[in-house]
Amino acid sequence: MRPLAAHIDLDALRHNYQLACRCAPQSRSVAVIKADAYGHGAVACAHALESHVPAFAVACIEEAIALRNSGISKPIVLLEGIFSADELPLVERYALWTAIHSAWQVDALLAFSPSQPIPVWLKVDSGMHRLGFGLEEAEAVWQRLVNAPQVTALHLMSHFATADASDGLYFNQQLLSLKALAKTLDAPLCLANSPATLAWPDAHGDWNRPGIMLYGSNPLEVANPTTQQLRPVMSLRSEIIGLREINEGEPVGYGGRWRAPRRSRIAVVAAGYGDGYDRHAVDGTPVLINGQRCAIAGKVSMDMLTVDVTDIQDAAIGSEVVLWGAASNGAVLAVDEVARYCDTISYTLLTGVLPRVPRRYQ
Ligand code: PLP
Repeated sequence: MRPLAAHIDLDALRHNYQLACRCAPQSRSVAVIKADAYGHGAVACAHALESHVPAFAVACIEEAIALRNSGISKPIVLLEGIFSADELPLVERYALWTAIHSAWQVDALLAFSPSQPIPVWLKVDSGMHRLGFGLEEAEAVWQRLVNAPQVTALHLMSHFATADASDGLYFNQQLLSLKALAKTLDAPLCLANSPATLAWPDAHGDWNRPGIMLYGSNPLEVANPTTQQLRPVMSLRSEIIGLREINEGEPVGYGGRWRAPRRSRIAVVAAGYGDGYDRHAVDGTPVLINGQRCAIAGKVSMDMLTVDVTDIQDAAIGSEVVLWGAASNGAVLAVDEVARYCDTISYTLLTGVLPRVPRRYQ
């Protein structure tokens, strides 16, 4: 079998979830497992967390139904709500909670007659300017919903645009306007994503919604003692499948982007952009070989990438290669660091691991 797999450490997932709970002790932490649990496998992650969490959050009804069909019975909230009124019978049948962010969704819900009222999180745009009712219209929508027979457990929900930034300027503007609205309406709040959970205790709300931190990635601009306790959940591991020596000045890979600065040993690794490894990885992007740091040399190909192992004495065919995550000897390469070399964020690397890469759960 091709030696490439995403090893998923479910103990680390539980550890990170508990850390989120300790950061926000007054808040209930809903585990965000949308986008197949950020590429980790939503069904396996949900089962690993189910006895610990009060609820799960997903993006859409297809994701929620897959969880229900796998036996998940805890509440599941649809963060983007329904995409058409036809979904409301499914919301009822699968006992889902839903965000509501648009007038047509309010109309559809109030024209529906569920056998049980549906828990609703009313999404307010406090500054992200993506989904949600404007602050000035939220009160009127709240009044339409709060006593409607179709609705129960109405909350205000909002999403922060800049919770990862250290200065807090725009973040505090969002927070203050939300708190003022919640006070006027006497409304419970569902607020914090991972960075707000980690860095802004005033912004947790009655519910918080950690996502990326559950998977062990630090979402803050500047790491702190808490983020240092996060453990990587996914370790993307492959092996060396080819080794060659090249002379000083010789190029490696498509376009000959990397040229050997000295006589060099080049390892070929069974992972490429056809697996979801980012083709934007520059020369120098770190990998771990037998737990030792070395660097990508040459452009990433579809099924392979190349690494300069001139200084790695024990590099051999079959040696372990960690593209991110933990090596067998305990060394760790943070996905956040790899993301910086790819000029992206950990979210895209993790969600970008393609289905042809088997997930192995431990
Ligand atoms: N809440 C909402 C509405 C989101 O869209 C997301 C993620 O995109 C989250 C919570 C979780 O955010 P994070 O992964 O940064 O914790």
